[in-house]
Amino acid sequence: MKPRLHKILSKKKFEKNDIVELLSETDSVEKNKIRQKAYSIKRKKLSNAVYFRGLIEYSNICSRNCFYCGVRAGNTHVNRYQLSDKEVLEAVDYAWKNKFASIVIQSGERKDNDFVRKIDNLLKKIKQNTNNEIGITLSCGEQSEETYKKWFESGAHRYLLRIETTNEKLFNKIHPVNEEVNFASRLKALELIKKTGYQTGTGVMIGLPFQLIDDLANDLMFFKDFDIDMVGMGPYIECNNTPLSIHNNILQPLNERFELSLLMISVLRIMMKDINIASSTALQAIHPMGREKGLLAGANVIMPNITPLKHRVDYLLYKYKPGTNEKCDTVKSRLENNIKLLDEEIAYGKWGDSKHFFAKRKNKFNSATQSEN
Ligand code: SF4
Repeated sequence: MKPRLHKILSKKKFEKNDIVELLSETDSVEKNKIRQKAYSIKRKKLSNAVYFRGLIEYSNICSRNCFYCGVRAGNTHVNRYQLSDKEVLEAVDYAWKNKFASIVIQSGERKDNDFVRKIDNLLKKIKQNTNNEIGITLSCGEQSEETYKKWFESGAHRYLLRIETTNEKLFNKIHPVNEEVNFASRLKALELIKKTGYQTGTGVMIGLPFQLIDDLANDLMFFKDFDIDMVGMGPYIECNNTPLSIHNNILQPLNERFELSLLMISVLRIMMKDINIASSTALQAIHPMGREKGLLAGANVIMPNITPLKHRVDYLLYKYKPGTNEKCDTVKSRLENNIKLLDEEIAYGKWGDSKHFFAKRKNKFNSATQSEN
């Protein structure tokens, strides 16, 4: 290993320039060393467990118009759907019976009362139908504090809201912004999620047009400063006919975005040893073993898609999305085989909450009792 890299990896805490240097590494042998370090930390801190979250793509109806997204409100070529309660509960039943132990409900963003109430009722039914045994993550965008609280009280205990990039100028290039919805509102939403008591997750896209390594280093520092509990990040994959696709000509090749995404996972794992990191589906969109490679880079969560097959093709956030026609059982057994080959183990029946979340709570409690004494 290069002495400079060795020196950085031996540090207890990375400075910004250390992160930039690690993310700028192009030599494959050196990149492997970084991944190996991250993977050994993952094994030591979090064992060889891989947690499954059954992903339910609840609805592609969205009030927003993110410039990179295939299901943005302004795309009139999308066949819009919202799962019925029955379809959601059947998907949950599959996850529960197969001991996935956790699900993620992901949806286009809506704040109307009908949507808020529907999600709320579903949360209650899911908890009831599974004897409280299923852990629930929500990924339903920016909401009011009241809604976050309502859903939390009804049984969701993790919430994922991706910031997409922490560079405000870049954020404004990839999202339409106005007085109500902008970079500040996204940050505020993340604060509210955390304040409500959720295990809080965020993430970014890697390889966006105009994005620099410096931006990605800032993203990782943001995760650390915000003391995030979970991260889901992956390569930016262009979607045709989106406003952002006019910049496709300046994108890095897909394999470079893939490699950079693995490096981001590894550097983050070294920086935040006990958080949950998802190995994103977008990795698999580029490489058939992408999610498995994400695990070896330091991730510990995989989200197999359990949305009813007939709707999957309508939830196309980006091009090349994998698994749109694969049955749940096929994906499950392939992941089982591949994960076994890695000497990792699917932690069936376990929620796999973020250890970081509970460590923070313990520290807070200890410092509160110390100050009382
Ligand atoms: S990224 Fe999410 S919020 Fe943005 S348009 Fe797509 S579904 Fe809607």
